[in-house]
Amino acid sequence: LVAALEEVEETYIMVKPDGVQRGLVGEIISRFEKKGFKLTGLKLFQCPKELAEEHYKDLKAKPFFPVLIEYITSGPVVCMAWEGVGVVASARKLIGSTNPLQAEPGTIRGDLAVQTGRNVVHGSDSPENGKREIALWFKEGEIVQWTSALVSWLR
Ligand code: ADP
Ligand code: MG
Repeated sequence: LVAALEEVEETYIMVKPDGVQRGLVGEIISRFEKKGFKLTGLKLFQCPKELAEEHYKDLKAKPFFPVLIEYITSGPVVCMAWEGVGVVASARKLIGSTNPLQAEPGTIRGDLAVQTGRNVVHGSDSPENGKREIALWFKEGEIVQWTSALVSWLR
């Protein structure tokens, strides 16, 4: 199997406060679950301002940065770690473009959102950032490694 030779990646996915408040948590989790990735971390969490600023530090100079921090800290988020071959790029594809009006139908943002400033979900943009963000949002012991006894091809 070619896939068996490819490296397993991890990505940080987060349902943003609007996604939680609109009742989209289950719908969003199920997109990644159905695709076939493995969930290794999951929690509801009220993000402190400092963590939001650290997470989005590359965007600090952007004019929308203060509004973004306000948005992400405006209510609880659902933090997730997902694992799999090619999971970083694939999750970005499932999520769709940053501006939901430009996101393709069938993607999470394309189906469920209309505003860039309320685009319901986050996904890491590189394997390096996947690792960085999981370490930022989860404590040790909150990431669980497991193997399915039913579907041994799930990885
Ligand atoms: P993505 O989340 O698709 O990786 P970026 O990393 O460029 O997008 O931006 C991070 C988040 O900042 C976006 O998901 C969105 O919530 C917010 N954002 C980006 N651009 C704008 C903007 N022009 N106005 C308001 N919020 C924005
Ligand atoms: Mg980004």
